Amino acid sequence: MSLSPSRASDFMQCPLLYRFRVIDRLPEKPSAAATRGTLVHAVLERLFDDPAAERTVPRAKAMIPGQWDRLLSSRPELAELFAEDPEGERLAGWLGEAERLVERWFTLEDPTRLEPAERELFVETELESGLRLRGVIDRVDVAPSGEVRIVDYKTGKAPRPEYSEGALFQMTFYALVVWRLKGVVPRRLQLVYLGSGDVLTYDPVEADLLRVERKLHALWDAIRTATETGDWRPRPTKLCGWCDHRALCPEFGGTPPVYPLEIASVRPPEPGGSEQGRMGGDPSGP
Ligand code: SF4
Repeated sequence: MSLSPSRASDFMQCPLLYRFRVIDRLPEKPSAAATRGTLVHAVLERLFDDPAAERTVPRAKAMIPGQWDRLLSSRPELAELFAEDPEGERLAGWLGEAERLVERWFTLEDPTRLEPAERELFVETELESGLRLRGVIDRVDVAPSGEVRIVDYKTGKAPRPEYSEGALFQMTFYALVVWRLKGVVPRRLQLVYLGSGDVLTYDPVEADLLRVERKLHALWDAIRTATETGDWRPRPTKLCGWCDHRALCPEFGGTPPVYPLEIASVRPPEPGGSEQGRMGGDPSGP
């Protein structure tokens, strides 16, 4: 009954993909690229445990094997990524790419001059409508003036300018949550693209956050309608190439599993005293 930026993006990309992930909870194969992103994020987070002067490129690179071991012990299924790699060549190349991403970060930011207020910060808030928003923010910096900067690391490449609004959706989502939690609009949103060496920034104003709030309510209305009717339309795009569920997707000749919810019983109550048509915090829904 809550929405995160990833699940909101899933629904916007393809309602059927949202259903497969959130309602059917179908397993997905681990991906080397996503796992590398998790590994790099862990290194960039842990590096700030060290004193400022010790946050160097060699130190960060030296942390990679240990963080990979840690990740493997918490998620043993990741070992299958390199199961057919007896000589360890693919693993070495994959770790080498993680090193390059970490090294590039030092050309974009200087961790010896940063003291994050928060790292990997879980945030959650409930809007007046009852819709809960949640997510994890990579880094929060707070200036002596009290101004807040929200930072997110991406291990991919920066999008072309015409697609930057999509990239900023996640950041404005977080800014809205922080605004609702703390009553302060973050001064700056910063996306750090390690794949291409770009930094994208945006300074939001209240109107931006109100706009994203309206968008999330509309999205949640659409999710609720799909939940009630069982009508989860596939929306094919070139991103289908990365979808784990093509074998079950009608667009590729597949048949989705039987819809798991009793449609008549899933309509959640309207949130207390809120506008008609908005979703509340009922645990029976998606
Ligand atoms: S293959 Fe494409 S259309 Fe089908 S569920 Fe996946 S993302 Fe949606």
